[in-house]
Amino acid sequence: MWPPSEISVHDGDGALARGAGVKGAATTMDYLPVFLRLQRQPVVVVGGGTVASRKVSALLKAGAQVTVIAPAVHPQLNAQATRGELRHVAAPFSPEHLDDAVAVIAATDDAVVNGAVSRAAEQRRIPVNVVDDASLSTFIFPAIIDRSPILVAVSSAGQAPVLARRVRAQIEALLPSRLGALARFMGERRRAVQRALGALGRRRFWERIVSGPVAGRVLAGDESGAAHAFGRELLTSQVTTSPATGASSLGEVYLIGAGPGDPDLLTLRALQLLQQADVILYDRLVSPQVLERARRDAELIFVGKTHGECGQQEHIHELLLRHARAGKRVARLKGGDPFVFGRGGEEVEALAAHDIPCTVVPGITAALGAAAATMLPLTHRRLADSVTFVNGHQGENGALPDWRFFADPRHTVVFYMGLKSLPEIVARLRTAGARADHPAALIANATLPEQQIVRATLGDIVARVHTRQIAPPALLIVGNVAAFAAMDAACGLTAAAGAALAAGAFA
Ligand code: SAH
Repeated sequence: MWPPSEISVHDGDGALARGAGVKGAATTMDYLPVFLRLQRQPVVVVGGGTVASRKVSALLKAGAQVTVIAPAVHPQLNAQATRGELRHVAAPFSPEHLDDAVAVIAATDDAVVNGAVSRAAEQRRIPVNVVDDASLSTFIFPAIIDRSPILVAVSSAGQAPVLARRVRAQIEALLPSRLGALARFMGERRRAVQRALGALGRRRFWERIVSGPVAGRVLAGDESGAAHAFGRELLTSQVTTSPATGASSLGEVYLIGAGPGDPDLLTLRALQLLQQADVILYDRLVSPQVLERARRDAELIFVGKTHGECGQQEHIHELLLRHARAGKRVARLKGGDPFVFGRGGEEVEALAAHDIPCTVVPGITAALGAAAATMLPLTHRRLADSVTFVNGHQGENGALPDWRFFADPRHTVVFYMGLKSLPEIVARLRTAGARADHPAALIANATLPEQQIVRATLGDIVARVHTRQIAPPALLIVGNVAAFAAMDAACGLTAAAGAALAAGAFA
């Protein structure tokens, strides 16, 4: 039985260390990491509690024939026994229970029983794991990342299980959740590639597949698109691959939302693709902190637009096409989300018109980043039922909908690009019926260390923003929620605690 879900993570380092000293990592290993094939192999688990139950689950996933030895068992084990998924021997442990086993796990809370299991196993030369006791074990359980058929196992040889789990979490974040699907996709096509290409071409072909558009499609969940692209790649490889370079002419574009500025707000997929891209075209709004997460040797091209610069968008389309046609993986990195005031739609159109494969990765749009960073909910059962994102820059040309809707404080309006035309926006809202005490907040550089917030009303926001000399990028949020201040008391406490700490109160 193979794991039902692609991502599942297990407890690790089931045993504690023998207290061994620090070893020379270069010359010795405490354990040999191996992957054991247990399909239909008899494995004995002694003990019937929750720990035993966890180990049994892992063994069943690996297809083992499990026998549980315990006078009484956990309800889950009982249910599994009733369903015939395991055999339960309702008796105290005795050494003959191990007669046919290929491995044994002792998971009782009785040290005497665990010791007896360990001795019996050693006499029979059967690998044994005593949970939480490496001195009685001949093998231990690693922390694992399961993207079957890809498996990653991490162990600290029992010396620092918490550290091993941290390492696992860090690796886990780097591995796309559909990695297993990609491995299967490739496995299903091995024979076809073997028939189509020679040995040298094959390796290069697979390297291109794992880091190119085909893998990108599988990882994005588009298997039929991937299968199509795979067919094209294979054909192209047969016809065009130069045996000398292995180069192919197919590139692709990733349209990536970089979020509002804080690099920790990048999505995992954005990070993975930034690590793959050969060329990165980035905007003015993409923070240097985010760019630091790109592949070290990627070519970085600034394509930021300044007001009134005509033709820049066409220039960007041309750069995207040129690099993709040269076989490059091109990341088009945009502030916030590519499809929220990001002209991402136009770029997708341009790429589609030239048959360049493209993947869009959403980002946290500035409104959401600003709302979270300033503790300002955009909707709230008592305060606001709806929210609209408006381009504040076009506010003057009158193309926007009826502003009477925006003048209702139960409706939250977020104006992007509105700093310059702030006085006009305020005047229009007032004309549409908004009162002078209608709450308004302006947030600049949201989620970045330079973040600033001005809380005000429509009556005084222009003057306050002027006094504070706020610089872009900034968002204007109007509506009841702009006055939301639930966290201020808590923040006040923190400040008081900070002051007390500084004064040595807790010393
Ligand atoms: N695609 C972007 C928006 C680009 S339009 C997104 O989804 O966020 C540019 C406008 O976004 C700026 O004028 C400003 O209003 C807003 N903006 C972007 N980053 C911001 C930030 N860190 N803080 C405040 N506003 C920001």
